[in-house]
Amino acid sequence: PRVVFSGIQPTGVPHLGNYFGALSQWVEMQNSPEPQTLLYSVVGLHALTMPQDAKKLREDRLNTLASILAVGVDPKKAVLFFQEDVPHHAELAWLLNCMVNIGRLKRMTTWKSKLQIQQNLDVDTEVDESGLNLGLFTYPVLQAADVLLYRTTHVPVGEDQRQHLELARELAQKVNRVMKTDFFPLPMAVTNPAKRILALRGSPPKKMSKSAPDERSRIMITDSSEYIQHKIKTAVTDSVDPEAIADESVPNLADLSPGVANLYTIMSCCTGEDTSDIIPRYYRQRYGRLKADVAEAINAKIAPIRAEFERLKRPENAGYLTQVAAEGRERASEIAEKNLSQIKALLGIQRI
Ligand code: ATP
Ligand code: MG
Repeated sequence: PRVVFSGIQPTGVPHLGNYFGALSQWVEMQNSPEPQTLLYSVVGLHALTMPQDAKKLREDRLNTLASILAVGVDPKKAVLFFQEDVPHHAELAWLLNCMVNIGRLKRMTTWKSKLQIQQNLDVDTEVDESGLNLGLFTYPVLQAADVLLYRTTHVPVGEDQRQHLELARELAQKVNRVMKTDFFPLPMAVTNPAKRILALRGSPPKKMSKSAPDERSRIMITDSSEYIQHKIKTAVTDSVDPEAIADESVPNLADLSPGVANLYTIMSCCTGEDTSDIIPRYYRQRYGRLKADVAEAINAKIAPIRAEFERLKRPENAGYLTQVAAEGRERASEIAEKNLSQIKALLGIQRI
């Protein structure tokens, strides 16, 4: 039977990229007829790889849990838990840290972009590596531990996580080879490249991110209709005057500037319609109408999620969130305990 694991950092309320790239797949996988174990985690230990304010982090953890429920994850079908409630993640990360070399981790690109945010640098500027926090550097190993701890077979994530998953696969293979076992299945990324959402601002455009400093670069799944309109209206497009384009043929998504293509991608994700069916309705026109319709499509998509989030966040529902977390912690711990004790036995550090 398949084992599905995925995580999200409590670094803020999830945005459209998180939703279309990952969370919507979490929900879809619940309805698979295949026998499976689903584990979805709010990964607080990962959030600590960047500077955090304790009070805000606590609030963001609750908001992230409420968001996962609001998008439709059913805690009866999936084990929904806080990573930091299950200490086995950190313990396995240590064991795996002892099997990775620095050169391998240096080839990852994510720590560089996070360090650039931290050091307030442009994308093409060299970061000062001596300021690199060890936790941030070894973050992909903790992520491999998250996945391998449950002997995961499938990992529904956004495109940006592919390189991390590759490391998890390498580590699984390494342990299997060295310990002459087939204990770890090779976890497979379940991604959808068409659902990579870019930030609404910044050039060159990066992926939409919770931790990017400018809040207007992302649309959160709790944003009001007015705020969505404002953010889309001020989203970067290009300096081309669409009405002055001589070529009358319908452009492909790949021919458009990144900001404009991103608007079409977002619209397509919201309505389920192909971008090739949407583009003919808007090309060679000023961006105002496209933007108004994109904002409306987003609002239609997230309005029920926003309402459910607000309901879950009412004081009378605090107990429900605590109960979901407690049940998740128990079910995840049980699997983690069983698997980690077998891993420790493979390595020779079992209880004597
Ligand atoms: P942070 O900036 O703090 O890293 P994030 O926005 O990158 O936050 P994560 O918690 O790191 O969010 O990732 C949660 C999931 O969302 C992952 O599966 C990731 O691949 C996916 N994801 C994140 N950003 C995007 C995006 N712009 N488009 C598609 N998927 C995304
Ligand atoms: Mg991220």
